[in-house]
Amino acid sequence: MSIEIEKKSIQIYNSLTGRKELFQPIHKGYVGIYVCGPTVYHHLHLGNCRTFILFDFVFRYFKHLGYKVRYVRNITDVGHLNNGEDKILNKSRIEGLEPMEIVQKYTISFHYLLNIFNAIPPSIEPTATGHIIDQIDIIQELIKKDLAYEKNGSVYFDIKNYRKNHSYGIMSQNKIDKLLVQKQNFLGDKRSFQDFSLWKKAKKNHIMNWNSPWGKGFPGWHIECTTMSTKYLGEIFDIHGGGLDLKFPHHECELAQAIGAYNNNPAHYWMHTNMLIFNGKKMSKSTGNYFLLKDLISPYGCKKTFHPTIIRFFILKSHYRSILNFSNKGIMDAEKGYYRLMNAMKLLNHFSIEKKTIKNNSLNVIQWIKNCYKAINDDFNTPLLISHLFKVTHLLNSSFIHEMDTKDINLLKKYMNYFVFDILGLQIVERNILENDSKKLKILIERLIKIRTEERKKKNWILSDKIREELSNIGISLHDEKIIL
Ligand code: AMP
Ligand code: ZN
Repeated sequence: MSIEIEKKSIQIYNSLTGRKELFQPIHKGYVGIYVCGPTVYHHLHLGNCRTFILFDFVFRYFKHLGYKVRYVRNITDVGHLNNGEDKILNKSRIEGLEPMEIVQKYTISFHYLLNIFNAIPPSIEPTATGHIIDQIDIIQELIKKDLAYEKNGSVYFDIKNYRKNHSYGIMSQNKIDKLLVQKQNFLGDKRSFQDFSLWKKAKKNHIMNWNSPWGKGFPGWHIECTTMSTKYLGEIFDIHGGGLDLKFPHHECELAQAIGAYNNNPAHYWMHTNMLIFNGKKMSKSTGNYFLLKDLISPYGCKKTFHPTIIRFFILKSHYRSILNFSNKGIMDAEKGYYRLMNAMKLLNHFSIEKKTIKNNSLNVIQWIKNCYKAINDDFNTPLLISHLFKVTHLLNSSFIHEMDTKDINLLKKYMNYFVFDILGLQIVERNILENDSKKLKILIERLIKIRTEERKKKNWILSDKIREELSNIGISLHDEKIIL
């Protein structure tokens, strides 16, 4: 099989069917991907990053193969409730800011972090608040089909009616009775426990509200993804992704909404990244079992820091469907491996091909290239890909390069650069530059804080607030004490 043919047979594990399936794009040469983006009410933690880094890898890979990729990743800026309260509204009360200030602050932080992880921005990044009218349209369609009902200004999806023609629970393999037990929540205006909100009536103090045919309110969380994915990718698109924790209820509800409104499962392949765990439990903002990336990447107030590219490497060293345990040893091992790989890349890229070379017998380069593609094509098996890269690293360190002919060296160079930089998205960082940079950055941040303290004493609030805001945007929060002059 030639390299070109090897590249084409991608197998993707489809969470909906529980099987690996051959990837066949809906439109030849094009791929549409939708990934559920963040709810912008906090700085990203490492668990969130795992999901976004994996889909950045997938995005990069399809682009590398020459597909025209439309990658849509939304921003949830309304409607994601926790114990009945909108997460963004709740945070706006805690921080004393307007909800849209919270959205702006954490969207900037999200972009900043993904940028330093070398993640390519998506092709479209739609927001829930920017698509209220479109969401209302789909809700009306569901009401028309008798799959949703209005009660006291809120609208709910009607699972009982939906089940007359479709089965509910196929995404999460949850039997309906089990769902009933799980859902010991408040029935309220709903006809049955499994029904979920499409539109919520806004209480008097709920300032994020919009006019709708049912009065002032705001959309539910699930409807935004159905709306934005189908609006930008069509009623049926190729890949839908997100973390495994979104399988139920979020993706189950999305599936029901799309089947209800359009009669279609919207995505041919549903992909879910497994959870990053910490101290034996899922890393999660709401349970408090998390740390922020600033604690890993910023030199401020931290003993040992890691460049984002090393964290990216740590994440991609394990397969996305396995649980990834964050440990000190794990990240330190990743750091060692990363530097070994980078040394090999330097050696390879600076190797002069004018040197006398003889035929290499220890590596069949063509077969090695095919094996690398085979690994990625086997449901994005990044650890296997990385183990193939280390095979070359090992050979390079044993001066094997001197025994290769120029054609093989050029091929190795070309494909190692593809795999390491274009597809895995790693970046070269010099160890001593990194350490020097960390020290300099720490001094710089301390100076900024000192300047700000002096400006506060002079009551120069504009400048001091500006410095605090800028530091907050990169994940450094300052807590002020009252100034006693
Ligand atoms: P959220 O902002 O909470 O909606 O999360 C954004 C994305 O991060 C979603 O796709 C989640 O599934 C994913 N995510 C959240 N926690 C973790 C975790 N511990 N490991 C992997 N992915 C996660
Ligand atoms: Zn979503």
